Parts: sequence; structure tokens; C-alpha cells
Amino acid sequence: MSMLGNEAVVVGGGLVGKAAALALAQAGLRVALYGAQPAPPQPQAGFAQRIYAVNAASRGLLERLRAWEQIPAERVQAVQAMRIAADGASLRFDAYAQGVESLAWIVESDAVERALDLALRFERGVQSSPETVAQARRGNQGWELQLAGGATLRAPLLVGADGRASQVRAWSGIGVRARPYEQTAVVCNFSCGASHGACAFQTFTADGGVVALLPLPAHEGRQQVSLVWSAPDALARELQALPAQQLAERVLAQLPALGATGLRSLEPSGGIGAWPLVLQRAERVADAGVALLGDAAHVVHPMAGHGLNLGLQDVQALAAVLSRRSAAESAAHEAVLQRYARARAEQVLALEWATDGLHRLYSPGFKRMAPLRALGLLAADRLPPIKKWLAGYASGRSVLS
Ligand SMILES: Cc1cc2nc3c(=O)[nH]c(=O)nc-3n(C[C@H](O)[C@H](O)[C@H](O)COP(=O)(O)OP(=O)(O)OC[C@H]3O[C@@H](n4cnc5c(N)ncnc54)[C@H](O)[C@@H]3O)c2cc1C
Repeated sequence: MSMLGNEAVVVGGGLVGKAAALALAQAGLRVALYGAQPAPPQPQAGFAQRIYAVNAASRGLLERLRAWEQIPAERVQAVQAMRIAADGASLRFDAYAQGVESLAWIVESDAVERALDLALRFERGVQSSPETVAQARRGNQGWELQLAGGATLRAPLLVGADGRASQVRAWSGIGVRARPYEQTAVVCNFSCGASHGACAFQTFTADGGVVALLPLPAHEGRQQVSLVWSAPDALARELQALPAQQLAERVLAQLPALGATGLRSLEPSGGIGAWPLVLQRAERVADAGVALLGDAAHVVHPMAGHGLNLGLQDVQALAAVLSRRSAAESAAHEAVLQRYARARAEQVLALEWATDGLHRLYSPGFKRMAPLRALGLLAADRLPPIKKWLAGYASGRSVLS
């Protein structure tokens, strides 16, 4: 791979890194991408365990990157309704009532990655490599990077898309504030005995956890759902250790609270996975010659399914400020990177505030607030302007418009 003349090096080949490399190339930069492992070439028989609810803004970006069209339609589930229930009250969103095609789309991580891999193959502005970056140092003339294989390269702009334990963040001297939620997300797919009606169900539990069932496309004629149970660590360990059939029984017991008794039965259709949850934020998302994106910049509670969406909107914002910069400004110009930081501040803070605020509000310490919480949920359900604002924010549209 020729290392000459790259204007930006993207470190991290997860979904955010791959999307960033493509978007920056579309913005006219010559880009090198490191850590880009190709996705498994074939989809697995059932639906994969690692899935995302992609919002309208993220879908728009994936369309512009010519990746969305590569995801097989039969592996995408449109979400037409969302139901959030707690304390005997509920809030329901419908795509039809909100005047949108869908509230979100559920896709497999591997399918999005395969689509991005294909788009990268045709993007001449990106040189992509699975090799990782071992070290980076800021010099007078930009960054000097050392690759794991020993080669070195230089670039004026370093883009950190290397996940929650970001080394780019550390190499840049950017601090990070982290607070473990002491919860773990337990994930498993189930086939159900009746239609899920393209509805995503979520409920807050008395122990401060969140149970979510997301609709998946049908497999072998049976409707599927994906469980994301954000449970206190001790309960999560217990759930993980259960045979999947017994986990199904525990989830069945949650169906009345979820308002999802219509699903009737649940049969596990895959193994059980688990992710520890943390609230984490880099002290800055931009600094001299560096921009942080995705989980390298912020990690939020998955209750609203927004981590990847935030990361893809980082990509969108960075590409926008780079393509609109003046001829006198280099890609690594301080003013350009500060514009990126400003563009991201509000949405990231609002989402952190909303997810963390809800986590606290529904924690066992706030049990006495249950009647008020129920009232709040009912009020949000009955007040169309509030509902419309919430739906717009969740879609990412209100932020980017
Ligand atoms: C249970 C759960 C459910 C979720 N559901 C949703 C959802 O429905 N919707 C949603 O939007 N988000 C969701 N999220 C959040 C989402 O998973 C993350 O926000 C997203 O995956 C972050 O992507 P990323 O590319 O920033 O980081 P990562 O996926 O962590 O990718 C980082 C990449 O960088 C590479 N890397 C690291 N160091 C180096 C190096 N030195 N050199 C080169 N490469 C390097 C790594 O190998 C990796 O490939 C969920 C999260 C959890 C835990």
C-alpha cells in the first residue's frame, strides 16, 4: 500500500471507521484506513446476534455511501411502531401517525459491514488495510504513525474510530470520563408464535433494568425477535448461564409488562451474548490534527439503540465540515476540527442526558416516583407535539435538518 500523500488516516475498521473512510473520500480527501478486517463473506443461516436499529439519518448516510442498496432487502426489518411501557403506563409511536416511512430499520452488523466493504472496494480515494496501528506521535508536520508490521507513515489528520478503548484518544492526550452502569446487555434471538407487527417493545424493570424486544425478519416462515435485556450485573450473569430455553421462559414472563403478549411463545434461535454497559465520554472530540468518532468519542446506554447512530452522525458531520472548508484551510486545520466538535456537541449531550436520565429515573432509588413517571409517560403519549419532537430526535432528522 502506498503511504504517500494521505490527507487523513482513519484508525479503526468497525462500522464507523469504514463509513468515515468512505465519507471522507467522498468529501475529496485521500484516505488510508487501518484495522479494516473484512466482514464474513456470507450471511449466517438465521439472523445474526449483533444487530442495530438504524435511524433515518444513518440510513441516509449509508445510502449516500452506496452501502445501503447492498444490504439484501430480506435481511432488513422496518420498525413501524415502538411501545415503551413502565409503571402500568405506556407510550406508543407509529410510523404512520408520525408521517414517516418507518421509525427505524433493524439490520445485522455483518450485513452493514459487508455492504461497506463492497463500497470501499469501489472507492478509489481510500486505501484500506486490516493492519492495526501500533503507535502514533504528533510532530511538527502532522502525525507519524507506526503500523503493527513496523512500517511508518505520516498524515496531517488522524481520525480515531477505534472503539471505546481508543488508543488514538490516548495518543492525543485526550482524557475520558467513564461510569460503568453495573449492567450487562444480554442478547439472544427468538422465533415467536405470532406476528410481532413490526413493533419494537421496551419496558423498564423494577431493578432498574431495561428489557427490549426488537422485530426481525421472518426466518423459515417464523417471525423472529431480538432480545436486548440490560440487566444488573448479577442478574445478567444468571441469565447468561441459563440454557437458552430457560432464558426464553424468563423473557415470556416479561411479555405482559412489555405489552407483547400477542407474541404468544418464544423459541431460542441462537446463542446468548453479553456486553457490559458503560457511560463514557471523551473530554474533547477534536484536538490538534485529530478527530474522534463513534465509541472512541462517546458510549451511551443501548436502551434507545443509538450508539451506532451517533457514530454515523459523527461521520456525517466530519465529512460535511471537511467538504465545506475554505480553500485556505487544510483538512487538519484547527478551525475545521473545532467546527466538527461544535456540530456534534448538542446531539451527543442530549442523547447522553436522555438515556442516562431515564436510567436514573427508573433506578430502584426512584421507586417512589413511579406515579409521576407513569403520568409523564401518559402525557407524552397524549401530546402529539411532544411525541413528534421525540420521534424526530430519535430519527436523527431534527438534528441534521
Ligand atoms: C447490546 C448493545 C446493543 C446495541 N444496539 C445498538 C442499536 O440498536 N443501534 C445503535 O445505533 N447502536 C447500538 N449499540 C451501540 C453500537 O454497538 C456501538 O456504538 C458501535 O458498534 C460503535 O462502533 P465503532 O465503529 O465506533 O466501534 P467498534 O465497533 O468498537 O470498532 C472499533 C474498531 O477499531 C479497531 N481498532 C481498535 N484499535 C485499533 C488500532 N490500534 N488500529 C486499528 N484498528 C483498531 C477494532 O478492531 C474495531 O474494529 C449497541 C451496543 C450494545 C452494547
